[in-house]
Amino acid sequence: MFFMIEVEVIVIGSGVSALKTLQIARECGRRVLAVDSTYSDGGYIQVIDTLYRIPKAPIFIDLDDMYFFENLGVEVECFDNEVVVLKEGNYVAKTLGYEDIDVQRNWFSEWVNKKRLCYSENIFEDLKKVLGFEQGKPIHISSGIRKIDVEKKIVALTSGEFIKYKKLVYTWPLPLLPKLLYPTQVTNIVNESIDSLKLNNIPAYILTLLLQKENRKDRVKMYIHSTKASRMHTAIELNIESKKVLYIITSYSKKYPLLPGISEKLLSEIKRFRIASPKNIVKEFGLNIAYTLINRIDKQRIDEVIKKLANYDIHLFGRLGQWREQTIKEILQNKELKQTIC
Ligand SMILES: Cc1cc2nc3c(=O)[nH]c(=O)nc-3n(C[C@H](O)[C@H](O)[C@H](O)COP(=O)(O)OP(=O)(O)OC[C@H]3O[C@@H](n4cnc5c(N)ncnc54)[C@H](O)[C@@H]3O)c2cc1C
Repeated sequence: MFFMIEVEVIVIGSGVSALKTLQIARECGRRVLAVDSTYSDGGYIQVIDTLYRIPKAPIFIDLDDMYFFENLGVEVECFDNEVVVLKEGNYVAKTLGYEDIDVQRNWFSEWVNKKRLCYSENIFEDLKKVLGFEQGKPIHISSGIRKIDVEKKIVALTSGEFIKYKKLVYTWPLPLLPKLLYPTQVTNIVNESIDSLKLNNIPAYILTLLLQKENRKDRVKMYIHSTKASRMHTAIELNIESKKVLYIITSYSKKYPLLPGISEKLLSEIKRFRIASPKNIVKEFGLNIAYTLINRIDKQRIDEVIKKLANYDIHLFGRLGQWREQTIKEILQNKELKQTIC
């Protein structure tokens, strides 16, 4: 005896693109369900501490996009961005883990070059609210995915349930897709076309510290270090009304591997550079972000992959699903998805 759920649209993921897909599907009256293996929603902008509302990685809103978010009803605050150069050198190379890779966007160097940065403390929950979703309740059901049978159009979940769908919107990282597909000949076809894209990415390890709040003026301060004399390349201090958070970031690669005991190493570096003192740490979290920077790929080839998958009613969406760097605003403003779903 097994349990089968029937929907018109299934969404794989629970980040901004999943939220956008759910919103569109609801608007055009489609029965829709999102699934993700994580418990909390938000994807890259997921919160790792609900009490202090700490996003798992730094995220900013461009000054030019501030009104877009404010018009939606999302509260945004902008701060002067003070950049402190701890050590001159090839900053970009260090953010790329000294790998020869042509990335679509380098978020780190973009932030460093901004005079003002805007921040929204509770962005994913605020977006859920303004798009008509219940706050505090995840937008998805939490389960891993065992297989996607593209012929029967059934997703088998690791939790034991089966979901029958008409259309599937995939927002997880594109390299993970082939392994999920069934039957094997489809896996092979999709694998071959995804292989031809030569996807590559730079991961990062982020040590996030919640620090004792200082009564100084609110601000964003960035510390950059551009040689191999330290592991961190960027430390971002957010000293805002409700809290003080420090993100300490190191990129790694085959050429520049992650060191064992990296958290302790990063802690000793911030102490050495007098960025923060370990005695002021209230909480700490260490996290790997596998797809921090993603490489540029051939437009024609990815369009072919998109077409091939659409024949199986699988539609790629989002930063990692489409392998296309996008801001949160760009995802929210997407127009093509509506035609696919409605
Ligand atoms: C370093 C960095 C800085 C950024 N800075 C900004 C910024 O300043 N301003 C801005 O507007 N946008 C920024 N972005 C982009 C913005 O965060 C994304 O466009 C948006 O969050 C993507 O949402 P998404 O749902 O498409 O993908 P994501 O939220 O990345 O993920 C989609 C789904 O994939 C799953 N997933 C992710 N990684 C894995 C994995 N390794 N294994 C299995 N599942 C996985 C997640 O659980 C999620 O369900 C930044 C992105 C990065 C990586």
